[in-house]
Amino acid sequence: MIGGGLAGSEAAWQAAEQGQHVTLYEMRPERPTPAHTTDRLAELVCSNSLGSNLVDRPAGLLKEELRRLGSLVIACADATALPAGGALAVDRENFARLVTERVLSHPRITVQRAEVTALPRPEDAPTVIATGPLTSPALSQAIAALAGAEHLYFYDAMAPIVTLDSIDMDKAFRASRYGRGSSPGGEDYINCPMDRAEYEAFYRALVTAERIPLRDFEREDPRFFEGCLPVEVIAARGERALAYGPLRPVGLRDPRTGRRPYAVVQLRQDNLAGTLYNLVGFQTNLRWAEQARVFRMIPGLEHAEFVRFGQMHRNTFINAPALLDATLQCRKQRNLFFGGQVTGTEGYVGSTASGWLAGVNAARLATGQPLVTLPPTTMIGALCRYVASAEEKGFQPMKPNMGLLPPLSDPPRRKAERAQMYAARSLRDLEAVLMTLGREVGS
Ligand SMILES: Cc1cc2nc3c(=O)[nH]c(=O)nc-3n(C[C@H](O)[C@H](O)[C@H](O)COP(=O)(O)OP(=O)(O)OC[C@H]3O[C@@H](n4cnc5c(N)ncnc54)[C@H](O)[C@@H]3O)c2cc1C
Repeated sequence: MIGGGLAGSEAAWQAAEQGQHVTLYEMRPERPTPAHTTDRLAELVCSNSLGSNLVDRPAGLLKEELRRLGSLVIACADATALPAGGALAVDRENFARLVTERVLSHPRITVQRAEVTALPRPEDAPTVIATGPLTSPALSQAIAALAGAEHLYFYDAMAPIVTLDSIDMDKAFRASRYGRGSSPGGEDYINCPMDRAEYEAFYRALVTAERIPLRDFEREDPRFFEGCLPVEVIAARGERALAYGPLRPVGLRDPRTGRRPYAVVQLRQDNLAGTLYNLVGFQTNLRWAEQARVFRMIPGLEHAEFVRFGQMHRNTFINAPALLDATLQCRKQRNLFFGGQVTGTEGYVGSTASGWLAGVNAARLATGQPLVTLPPTTMIGALCRYVASAEEKGFQPMKPNMGLLPPLSDPPRRKAERAQMYAARSLRDLEAVLMTLGREVGS
C-alpha cells in the first residue's frame, strides 16, 4: 500500500484482515505535503466533518455501507465523533491517533516511513496506490508515464478556524437548522446572524478583497471543484448567491429577535474540547490579512482569533475511466490498484470507500481469488463503477450522490421517500452480497 491517508489505511486494514501481510508506505514525516501537519495516518487536512450521517443522504448511505463492510476508518470516526447535527464530525486529533494505533498494532501490517518514487514492476506483489490529492511529484511523474497522459489539476480549499473564546456570544447564538442537532436543544452550531445592511457590506468587502495569486500549474488549468468553491468565488456569482448558499438562514431563528435573519454564517465545532470552531463553507483564497479584515465584519466575529486561515491547494487525480476497471485494478498493469481521491472518488468518505475496494481486491489477487465489485445499487458500488466508466474526456472527481444509483422501478414522487427507497435497496443488496461472499470480505 502506498500512502497512509484515509484510503491507504483502509486498504491496508482490509487486505490484512483478508490474511495478507501488508507493507504500508507513508512518506510523512520524512517528506511532508503542503497540507498535512502531523505524522499520523488518516490525517484530516481540512474540515473535521465526514458529511451526513443520515442513511437517506448519499454520504450517510455510503457510511452505513462501509460500517457493514467492516471499515476501519468509519469505526474510528464513530468512536471519536463530536456533536454535529445529522453529520459525522470527529475530533481530528483523536481520530487520526486511533487509526494510527489500530494500523500499527495490526499483526500483519508493517508501516514504512518512506516516499515511494517508482511504480512496482509487473512481477511484484499486488500494490495499491492511495497517495491522494497531494501525491508526491516523483510518484506523480511515474503515474503520468504509465497513464500516458498528463495529470489534471484543480483547486480545493480549506476553511478558517477561530477560537470559541473570541466569538461574541452576545451577537451569535447556538442552534442547528430546524433544531435537528444531536446535543440537547439541537444547538450544535454557532450562528452569526446578519441583517441586510451587514450582509451587503460584507458581500462588497469579500468580492473586492485581495486574493493570493495563482501559481503556474493552477493558472494553466483554473478549474474549481464545485463542491468546495472558495467563498469569494460563490459571492462573485451575484449579490445574493451567498444568502442562497452557505449563508442561507433557513431553519434558523435569532432568539433575540424571534425572526429569521437575512443571512447566517454558521460555525461548527472543530475539536473535542469544543474550543475551536470552523466557518462552514468559508474555503477561501483571500490573503490572510484580508481574511482577518473581511471575516471580522461578520457580526460576532469582530474580535475573532484565527488559529488557521483558509487556504487553497492542488488536487491530483488520474483519468480513472481510461485506466481502471470497476474493481479498481489498473488495465495496463494488473498487479496495480488505485484507491482514494487519486481515483476521483471525491471526499473523505468517497476516498475511504475506494480504498476499501482496492485493498480487498489487492488481497484477492494475491491469493488467486476472483476480484469483486459491489452492486451498482450500493453507493460504494456505484461510485467505483462511475470512476471506471465515466466519459474519459473532461473526467472530474465525483462525490457520492443518489444520481449515481440506477433508477427505482416504481419511484415515489416525493424526493425524501425516493431517498429512503434508494437506501433500503442498497442495504438489502449489500447484505445479499455479503451472504454470497460468505462474509469473506468485511469480516
Ligand atoms: C487541503 C485539502 C483539503 C481537503 N478538504 C476536504 C474536506 O474538507 N472534506 C472532504 O471530504 N475532502 C477534502 N479533501 C479531499 C480528500 O477527501 C482528502 O484529501 C482525503 O484525505 C483523501 O484521502 P486519500 O487517502 O485519498 O489521500 P490522503 O488522505 O491525502 O492520503 C494520501 C497519503 O499519501 C501520502 N503520500 C503521498 N505521496 C506519497 C509517496 N510517493 N509515497 C508515500 N506516501 C505518499 C501522503 O503523505 C498522505 O498521507 C481535501 C483535500 C485537500 C488536499
